[in-house]
Amino acid sequence: MPTVDTVRGPVNVAELGQTLMHEHIFVLSTEHLDNYGKGAWWDEEVRVGDAIEKLNALAAKGVRTLVDPTVWGLGRYIPRIQRIAAAVPDLNIIVATGIYSYHELPHQFRHRGPGLLMDVPEPMTREFVRDLTVGIADTGVKAAMLKCVVEADGLTPGVERICRAVAGAHAETGAPITVHTNSTTQSGLIALELFGQEGVDLAKVVVGHAGDSNDLDYLMRMADTGATLGMDRFGLDFYNPTPQRVSTIADLCRRGYADRMVLSHDTGCFMDYFGGMWDDALTTAAPNWRYDHIHNDVLPALRESGVTGEQIDQMLVFNPSRYFS
Ligand SMILES: [Zn+2]
Repeated sequence: MPTVDTVRGPVNVAELGQTLMHEHIFVLSTEHLDNYGKGAWWDEEVRVGDAIEKLNALAAKGVRTLVDPTVWGLGRYIPRIQRIAAAVPDLNIIVATGIYSYHELPHQFRHRGPGLLMDVPEPMTREFVRDLTVGIADTGVKAAMLKCVVEADGLTPGVERICRAVAGAHAETGAPITVHTNSTTQSGLIALELFGQEGVDLAKVVVGHAGDSNDLDYLMRMADTGATLGMDRFGLDFYNPTPQRVSTIADLCRRGYADRMVLSHDTGCFMDYFGGMWDDALTTAAPNWRYDHIHNDVLPALRESGVTGEQIDQMLVFNPSRYFS
């Protein structure tokens, strides 16, 4: 039986159980935090304690695994996640490697790479593969998946190089990929085309944020490539309200696509996009954008819309374990 690397070490994929496939624990900018958060709105102990409490509550709902695609650009910091994982014994946490950028290549890669001033094999691929096979920095924690972005502006030179570097790391390791996409511009199709050119096994790709769209043609075109649709922003009603998200999933289940969807919220315990006003921003703008919205509200609504218990298990348990197998 295959295993998947989690923060506490390898876990048999058959034991992943109910899995939320796209949640963050923290989204932070390290420079923002170090220069403006400390001494102001960031208290490490308070935030770690809060995360432990929220994740234990999530485990009590029956969720066994949380997939955290927080990579460079979103403030990945594994020692903090290790501390939290040690205090959340009933929840597996899977972490990722990759780069989160809507436009630009990080300057750190501008002059290094094939044909550049420092003419070396793609250094991003080398670093991603190291994260997947050796471990992230000196933590010993291995990433189990790759993450990149194709946003509204499509394949800018920076985004294209990052996505091809991710595809290269997939080719070497077989690690699955999650790509953040923009459903308004339907950038998921651009991402899948690029991965197809690079020989990526599209059954190992989750099209993140596909669930912001209710356009069944767009969604089925992507699912028909073998890719999995990330119905993963439950609670972000300003992108797509929960009743519409539910009815789109129910439609797709009726059409036989339950094996091509995964569920999540894309929320977190704390994000610094609002400075210290995270809790206020949640209450005002997205009160349901919480880890328990799916179990409290979405699953009952899906059942009422005719989605069967078997189809829910498919989306919450089986599809995630297939992705990591
Ligand atoms: Zn996310």
